[in-house]
Amino acid sequence: MSELHKFMFEGLPVRGMLVRLTDAWQDILRRREQTGGYPAAVTELLGEMTAAATLMQANIKFEGALVMQIMGDGPVKLAVAEVQPDLSLRATATVVGDVAADAPLSHMVNVNNEGRCAITLDPKDRLPGRQPYQGVVPLFGDRREKLEKLSEVIEHYMLQSEQLDTRLVLAADDKVAAGLLIQRLPLQGEGNLAGSGAMRSDDDEIGRNEDYNRIAILAASLKREELLELDADTILRRLFWEEDVRRFAPMVGSEGPRFACTCSRERVGSMLRSLGHDEIESILAEQGQVEVGCDFCGAQYRFDPVDAAQVFLQPAAQPPGSPGVH
Ligand SMILES: [Zn+2]
Repeated sequence: MSELHKFMFEGLPVRGMLVRLTDAWQDILRRREQTGGYPAAVTELLGEMTAAATLMQANIKFEGALVMQIMGDGPVKLAVAEVQPDLSLRATATVVGDVAADAPLSHMVNVNNEGRCAITLDPKDRLPGRQPYQGVVPLFGDRREKLEKLSEVIEHYMLQSEQLDTRLVLAADDKVAAGLLIQRLPLQGEGNLAGSGAMRSDDDEIGRNEDYNRIAILAASLKREELLELDADTILRRLFWEEDVRRFAPMVGSEGPRFACTCSRERVGSMLRSLGHDEIESILAEQGQVEVGCDFCGAQYRFDPVDAAQVFLQPAAQPPGSPGVH
């Protein structure tokens, strides 16, 4: 069963999380098999994204969806992992052309260094027309060198957007998607101290906390095979046997990470409405019905001419000026 473990290091400003997606991840892949499945390298990338998005959602207090997207400039045009506050999740990727089984990250999504990774926080009760918060980072490092690990891209994002030192280890295959996150907590009253102009010791600054550094180095020694194959207890014991680790109750089952799709006939209807009457009429004239498939779960929504007319009879759910496809 898929599980998420939270823990902290007693007396130290360091916390951690470990996620292991098994059934949740296999559900996502099984739904894709109907349409041919993903190349192995894409499975690995999308699995790492799903594990990372789960860790990030569990790491924040936020009532809304966390969406991780990679907009690629290679054969993988788009990869999306979305996690709700209750840890239900879904993911999909759009692949055009061939991807070698051992393709590195840059060959899939960053051929010309134009790939981007976006993290969107979409509040549950967002007012119509209000844009969700979005942070975007490139897929290259400080010297424009292409990053070949998704974990490095996200560490970069965490440092840039939240000023938090983060160490991330990710791994995925066609059975398991897993991740380990270690994060340095801001020291209590840190902001106040800085604001009052008081002296701050070097240890308080990003990247210089000795305890965090020691634990981050231990975390980074975790091998891909270990992360994929070992259970959480074994991993944490092996890595941190000299540390005083306090574990919290694991989140599993209906409280843990699990696959669920948020698509619905109603949502597809409002998407069709945003396409406009003329566009829908021309599809109907050509094909006799409008058929829309969900990329995440494979559900097919069909609208015959009567259904389509119904869509436009309903009062518009979107106020004028809100974004839509035109
Ligand atoms: Zn769906």
